[in-house]
Amino acid sequence: REEEEKTAAADKDQYKGVWVFIEQVGGQARGVGLELLGEGRKLADALGQELAGVIIGDKVEHLAKEAFACGADKVYLVEGPEYKHYNTDAYTIAFTDLIQTYKPSVVLLGATNDGRDLGPRVACRVGTGLTADCTGLGIDEQTGLVAWTRPAFGGNIMATILCPDHRPQMGTVRPKVFKRPVPDYSRTGEIIRVPSKVKPEDIRTKLIDIIQVCTASCNLEEAEIIVSGGRGMCAPENFRLVEELAEVLGGAVGASRAAVDAGWKPALHQVGQTGKTVGPKIYFACGISGAIQHLAGMSSSDVIIAINKDPDAPIFKVADFGIVGDVLEVLPILTEEFRKI
Ligand code: FAD
Repeated sequence: REEEEKTAAADKDQYKGVWVFIEQVGGQARGVGLELLGEGRKLADALGQELAGVIIGDKVEHLAKEAFACGADKVYLVEGPEYKHYNTDAYTIAFTDLIQTYKPSVVLLGATNDGRDLGPRVACRVGTGLTADCTGLGIDEQTGLVAWTRPAFGGNIMATILCPDHRPQMGTVRPKVFKRPVPDYSRTGEIIRVPSKVKPEDIRTKLIDIIQVCTASCNLEEAEIIVSGGRGMCAPENFRLVEELAEVLGGAVGASRAAVDAGWKPALHQVGQTGKTVGPKIYFACGISGAIQHLAGMSSSDVIIAINKDPDAPIFKVADFGIVGDVLEVLPILTEEFRKI
């Protein structure tokens, strides 16, 4: 037993380095990969290890510059036409091969559709676990392991999870939980080009078409301005007031869970613990009470503006600016005034 434990410890010692998957679409890095580089830098420094970005795509070497600027020491680059669009089989093979070859100790991916598809598959193939949908990262003082924090039991408690027995320690992290680091383009690093090992017969899924279901109005994670409506909008047709203000400001439309549950907006607009985590420059909360589960998804917004007819609504405790009034009267006035600018 002692021998077994020694072998396991020695095996774990081979794993070094913090990795971040830099997800890209059409050759553009998704924000979450850059946010995770900022946080990965802190983990790497605390562990005394290197930070590496993993870039997979077709003709995407230019993204390495961005990765270095955001804190990476090196980049693992896998390129080929088979990676032009995200493909479950191709990306899983490439990422699994990278981990088995270079043995990182920590791997972070964004909790996006692609990251949620890729992370668990790769974790399973390399024989480790994965903490999904994290909202916090740190180092556990006692063990020196990464402490992954995520909502559990339907969001009623926050669980902190450690991965003591297997390597790498892997997790997906929600977009916008961390701020994107200020890029320093004077930073450089090493690019390790890794040849593609994917064979045509490995690809079992074929991309037939890309259909845009999400317009700018529901791209909440990337939006700089979000106008959100809650139950206080009183009826589904009143949501047009929220949409009009968002349109005038070039922002996205959010919703509380009450509004989503009522069928006033589709679930992809939901902000909060069981919806999206957002971090815009300005967040308008219109007819939203400010329940803790809603705040969990938007309280890191730079400026919060709340409109609510109840002066004691909890949303005013987190708001930078508050308007006590009826949203159905206040929103048209705001929209009209912003239209003039
Ligand atoms: P309400 O709480 O009903 O508030 C409506 C507000 O509108 C009130 O403050 C009222 O004063 C105001 N109002 C009414 N009429 C007007 C008017 N004409 N003009 C101005 N103001 C008006 N919620 C989320 O939003 N996101 C989540 O991800 C989420 N996840 C959850 C997870 C769990 C496990 C649980 C238990 C709950 C979750 N919830 C979530 C639900 C959350 O607890 C609240 O129930 C929800 O946020 C309430 O939405 P609301 O503020 O729109 O509605």
